[in-house]
Amino acid sequence: MTRTRVPALLIGCLVLAACATTAVAARTPSPTLTTTEGTVLGPADGYLPDGEGLSPFDTAEPAVGNLERALLDALQDATTAARDDGVTVQVTSGWRSAALQQALFDQAVAEHGSVEEARRFVLTPELSQHVTGRAVDVAPYDAMDWLSRFGSDYGLCRTYANEAWHFELVTSRGGECPEELTDATAG
Ligand SMILES: [Zn+2]
Repeated sequence: MTRTRVPALLIGCLVLAACATTAVAARTPSPTLTTTEGTVLGPADGYLPDGEGLSPFDTAEPAVGNLERALLDALQDATTAARDDGVTVQVTSGWRSAALQQALFDQAVAEHGSVEEARRFVLTPELSQHVTGRAVDVAPYDAMDWLSRFGSDYGLCRTYANEAWHFELVTSRGGECPEELTDATAG
């Protein structure tokens, strides 16, 4: 969204070098999410704005650092191997606080019109593996594709057929991934 504005800003910067910092600021989405109740959620809740990605080695960020150790180890090893294939793995969502998961669920209910429909895409805090630090969402597409093909070498599997970006540590290294569930309501 904001990305489309960048070229115009950069062209402006050719004639006005001083606006370089403005261009950077315009590209950075707000690092917080405000719930309908007015609670502000930020990086400490594991919140990452849409389009933002973290390196799996960026453990100072709670979204990455609060992932379960075994998942983090597997993800970092996979990221290193993917890099050798020219693929960069980024974390778009990892550990989330229960408050953030609830806010995302509430958003999904508003978006999809019902709790039943929302549950196909976002689980409640009691059920989400993101809250326990046992799930990670990755980007870009290359990284999803690489992990769907080679992730099992590290124990990482895609668990939902309708979430190409969502991976969990559900097998042993070199093991076989269980069959994907249709969506988060199945199983
Ligand atoms: Zn996920």
